Amino acid sequence: MTVINSIHLERFAHEHFEGIKDKLGDFPAGKYSLQEVITAKPDKLHEIAIWAKDKTNEYKFMIGKYKNFTTKKTEYDAYDLARKLNVNVCPYCNINPTYTVITENGKKITRPEFDHFYDKDTYPILALSFYNLIPSCHTCNATLKGQESFSNLTHINPYSESFDKVAKFHLKIGDSSFYYSSGGFELKLKSEDKKAKNNIKSFELESLYENHKEIVLELIQKEAIYNESYLDELLTQYEGTLFKNKEDLQRLISGGYVSEDEINKRPLSKLIKDISQELGLI
Ligand SMILES: [Zn+2]
Repeated sequence: MTVINSIHLERFAHEHFEGIKDKLGDFPAGKYSLQEVITAKPDKLHEIAIWAKDKTNEYKFMIGKYKNFTTKKTEYDAYDLARKLNVNVCPYCNINPTYTVITENGKKITRPEFDHFYDKDTYPILALSFYNLIPSCHTCNATLKGQESFSNLTHINPYSESFDKVAKFHLKIGDSSFYYSSGGFELKLKSEDKKAKNNIKSFELESLYENHKEIVLELIQKEAIYNESYLDELLTQYEGTLFKNKEDLQRLISGGYVSEDEINKRPLSKLIKDISQELGLI
């Protein structure tokens, strides 16, 4: 649902390769080198996946290597990768936190799970490929996606495309005199994009967001309270002291709205952004 947009991804992919290459033993000589496989960008992942489809047995050992990587049996492990990526909210749902916590004395407490975009049983060759490892929450990775295999043709890989651009939350107002009743409004997540539609379905996003309608209700109420004349009043009084300008004030009112490049740092930021835009709050 949100894009993982760090400018350092290529460097991280390279460091990931450096971290694991010596632990992999003899990598079967095939069309692709180990480095190509580990650092393959999303489009190339697909190419490798197609090529390796009938070579499951040859690369099965990679699943074991991935397990070592996640169970702290290697010097460089999943915690190192997670900490580097610093993705604090699940990119598939933008609901659950996926931050990484390691205490000062090195105790590893929590980190995101890593979903295999191309599932590792069907495509073991990609079990440790950087762009195939999607930091994600337990609900999205284990409960919802499970063994389902995605591909660049069917779903949106958060490393390559922004769901943000092709899907939007919308309100359908029912009885506008009682927003706060359950039938006051409906929340819809819509897209014309085939892959985005599949993401919405695979991760049950509409059902999950039903639980967050109270945030939307707050935004609707704020939109009613902060009308133009009240905004002007606040600006006259506080511009330059409490907030910089009108835009700043609008951000403050929408609460939780963050800029594009920070959207994967705060839970529900896509919902807040889309609805705030629809209501004219930002
Ligand atoms: Zn999630």
